[in-house]
Amino acid sequence: MVPPVTLILLLTLVTVVSVHITIEPETRRQWLYRCLFGRRSQQVVFCGLMTLYGHLIAIVVLSIYMRPVQPRQQQFPAATVIAQWTPEEQEPLPPTELHFTPPEIPEGLPTEADAVPVPTLAPDAPNVPAPTAGQASAPLLLDEGKGVQPSPQMLLTNTELKIGGGYEGRTTDARDRLAAARGGSPASERAVELGLNWLAAHQHKNGGWQFDHQHGKCAGKCSHPGTHQSTTAATSLALLAFMGAGQTHREGNYQLVVERGLDYLVSRVVPNSRGGDFQEGTMYAQGLAALALCEAYAITQDNQLHYPAQLALDYIINVQHPLGGWRYFPGQTGDTTVLGSQLLALHSGQLAGLQIPTKSFVLAHEFLDRVQDEGGATYGYQSPGDQPTPSAIGLLCRMHRSWKRTDPRLIAGLEKLAARGPDEQDLYFNYYATQALHHFDGPLWEKWNLAQRDRLIATQVQEGHAAGSWYTPDHHTVAGGRLCDTALAVMILEVYYRHMPLYGHRGAGDF
Ligand SMILES: [Zn+2]
Repeated sequence: MVPPVTLILLLTLVTVVSVHITIEPETRRQWLYRCLFGRRSQQVVFCGLMTLYGHLIAIVVLSIYMRPVQPRQQQFPAATVIAQWTPEEQEPLPPTELHFTPPEIPEGLPTEADAVPVPTLAPDAPNVPAPTAGQASAPLLLDEGKGVQPSPQMLLTNTELKIGGGYEGRTTDARDRLAAARGGSPASERAVELGLNWLAAHQHKNGGWQFDHQHGKCAGKCSHPGTHQSTTAATSLALLAFMGAGQTHREGNYQLVVERGLDYLVSRVVPNSRGGDFQEGTMYAQGLAALALCEAYAITQDNQLHYPAQLALDYIINVQHPLGGWRYFPGQTGDTTVLGSQLLALHSGQLAGLQIPTKSFVLAHEFLDRVQDEGGATYGYQSPGDQPTPSAIGLLCRMHRSWKRTDPRLIAGLEKLAARGPDEQDLYFNYYATQALHHFDGPLWEKWNLAQRDRLIATQVQEGHAAGSWYTPDHHTVAGGRLCDTALAVMILEVYYRHMPLYGHRGAGDF
């Protein structure tokens, strides 16, 4: 503020100067004469006019001089202001890399301590104690700061990388030839078609599937709905059944069904700093969703699927336990069955040309090393053992990891599975054991296939609204209900062409 005395002096000065500048000297002298010596009325008029004139000019000048001043900091370029901040005042920047953070256990879902396995695709042994302290402190191949240190055995096996396992057998022409050559039959192919029809009829309006299949047009006409809530798991299983027979959104008789299913699945992703979360309550769903998206992308090369598939894989990669495993929820130590669904999804991502660090595979096989028994012929759930489903999964993963067909550990393990034979009700075990024995081929496979194929054909519902579906009361898949069993049975009967053989260096043209 300007002090009052200064303001008065300033006004007087401005008045004198402005009158001196703006009024002609002759006029000024006349005004001054009349102010001093004129009549009284003339003195008032001319002195008043002179003062008023001067003050008007003074007000204009002062209004310019005393206009409000803008805040000083707003005149600075933004970069200057930022440079004045101290580090404590800055907001934290978003992380530039994906980091594992402690698990977030969803409210209301089981924890590690009371985990009752998700009955859908559940393992053989529900609650085996977590790895002992000795196991947990087993040396890791991953040495932070030094990268992955492959073992001599790993280097040896990697020199004989597998080929095969791809999807080229799913084209219409190759499918027929492979089904005929690898143990399928017209009846098994018909069963696949009936199963796909049932699945298509039970797709929801939004494009997804639910284990509780009775909503919509079904209206309860099919019995045994599932109870598990994960729509991403149900949708992925159904999509995998369609794609296993070469039915994609670009080819086949179910293009619209598959397209709507893929749209639904992609819409369910929850992006976060770890990648794309498709769980809806269980890591099983994450593995299945990643597998479905990777297969769809690998087969069709639809670029719109590239990003969702990579996101799904990123999540799997980033929530892997430091000891190599995965379990129901991110960050848990791991079990062989959940590991199988994640690891096979990663292999599918490899086939699709997506980005997966080698250390993810290395660590996963380190986990399998810790739960194997008999030198690697058998596998336990969370500790060394000989349990059917973990053994089938463990051996299948080893085959994808380039164990040779002549490996005595593989032969011993598969002979055990074959001697057990296909389970009459446990389609989850059959699903994995069938894939392992199909890749192994030979008499073990032929015997297994005949028993399983004909049983599945015989147990499929043939009439009525439920025609084409399966249901078995096995506790492993009861929460997935008829939808889960049907998808698994269809994929078991697609085994002849769903993946090219891992051994023998044979392509689709060799059949
Ligand atoms: Zn129905």
